[in-house]
Amino acid sequence: MELEFKITGIFRTSADPGPAREAILTLLKDARSTILSKGAPEGKGARITSVDVDTNGIAINITSDRYVRAHDAILRLRKPLAGLLGKEHRIGIRGIDITQYLVTIPSEQPLGELKIPYVNSMEYTQGALVLSLDVGLSEIEKRIPDRIISLIEDKVTASSYGGKGEHWDLLWSSGKKAHQFNKDPTPELVKLGWIKRGASRGQWIHGPQSTAIFRAFEHIVIEEIIKPLGYREMIFPKLVTWDVWKRSGHAKGVYPEIYYVCPPKTRDPEFWEEVADYYKVTLEVPIDKIASKIDKPIGGLCYAQCPPFWPFLQGETLPDDGFPLLVFDRSGTSHRYESGGIHGMERVDEFHRIELVFMGTQEQVLAHSEEMQKKYMHIFNDILDLEWRMAWVTPWFMAQEGLTGLADKGSVGTIDYEAVMPYKDEWLEFQNLSVNGDKYPKGFNVKSQSNQELWSGCSGIGLERWASALYAQKGPDPDNWPDAFNKIVGELPEGIRFL
Ligand code: ATP
Ligand code: ZN
Ligand code: MG
Repeated sequence: MELEFKITGIFRTSADPGPAREAILTLLKDARSTILSKGAPEGKGARITSVDVDTNGIAINITSDRYVRAHDAILRLRKPLAGLLGKEHRIGIRGIDITQYLVTIPSEQPLGELKIPYVNSMEYTQGALVLSLDVGLSEIEKRIPDRIISLIEDKVTASSYGGKGEHWDLLWSSGKKAHQFNKDPTPELVKLGWIKRGASRGQWIHGPQSTAIFRAFEHIVIEEIIKPLGYREMIFPKLVTWDVWKRSGHAKGVYPEIYYVCPPKTRDPEFWEEVADYYKVTLEVPIDKIASKIDKPIGGLCYAQCPPFWPFLQGETLPDDGFPLLVFDRSGTSHRYESGGIHGMERVDEFHRIELVFMGTQEQVLAHSEEMQKKYMHIFNDILDLEWRMAWVTPWFMAQEGLTGLADKGSVGTIDYEAVMPYKDEWLEFQNLSVNGDKYPKGFNVKSQSNQELWSGCSGIGLERWASALYAQKGPDPDNWPDAFNKIVGELPEGIRFL
């Protein structure tokens, strides 16, 4: 079973095309070996399976494979037909109606209920999905059928992985280490008064001691990476609009994990007065009333940290001597609606991350990734002394678009850094380092002076994750921490005392 397209279309004419009948049939007959197979491998392309020249138009059925798709075939026929009818018979083509469009896509199993625009029905029979598309000329011109087919093919590929999830290939491992601690650190830190749950889901309030550790991590990143490699600090926005996520690719898949942001419909105090009054009288916040007074979401809170930086470069051309461009942000929180279950501070809905972004030529970006890997190696071995490993995984931007593939090693892709959590014998991703290829410069239309292709990469350092790795392996007692790290932390501040 192969990909197959079957379309029925009518070229509506301004007058009875009867007089041109013979010429039309000849043109359509010749089309098979010319316009309908142009660009396709030998023997492939589209075939006209029937023609009916009627008083108000020409109805045709076309069957095709993936090479000259039936809807492209219809488009290819429009001009020659219009030429023939116009020149010799003064008849115009008013439009093209698509009365039926069936696409057969091979699949080992059905896909379940899906709601896809322009798809009337989808049935599974004998190793294939048969889709009936409700599209017209304008949808064909906008390449809607092609996008539907790639979407379904992606879903078929994903379903045949059978939930194997993302790819994972070990790159490097520190080897087994002895650990001074084997408890879940979060409850221990709570007992010590270093952290407390915040009022919101998956949110923590960090006391002075926990905060000092986060600052020590930042200090390490600044001294070991930012300064020697020459990164410049910037402040990236933390409210991200749809336009940015369309360009970064996140619009393809992050919906279940976004914290959505809705502005008020108006800031007119009178419009809101009833909400305030309701609260004053009942001491209940009227969330349904509020829901009716806010607008649709304009985007969401920071999810991946780098996308909202790119509008700074959008549409610009940068000088060649400005590469590699190295910038970082640590100006605010990231937010994700994580899964329900019980998590400690390692999986939170509000977290703190340092994001490093690098851009340059392909060689510069790949070389920079190597340099970063060396810096990280030094930090995790010599300063934090962790049991950790690196793995080559599905690139984060593919994962976040719901894809599962794996790129060639040493090129475009993501390295996950993972630390073992001795208390549950599981590994936790505590940061990543990605080479994103031309995805961002392309998506945000950024150019180099010499017009060389630009690549970029980024690395997200999760402070909650670094902390979780340290505490899980070494506990919260500084006596069990490496000297190199204690030197950076210095004296821990006194905690807040309660009676
Ligand atoms: P996981 O598989 O653990 O959910 P992820 O693949 O979703 O992680 P990325 O999207 O690669 O994570 O995000 C980059 C970094 O951001 C992670 O390496 C981690 O340091 C941090 N991070 C992501 N989600 C969280 C979270 N819920 N809590 C704390 N830190 C997080
Ligand atoms: Zn990033
Ligand atoms: Mg995640």
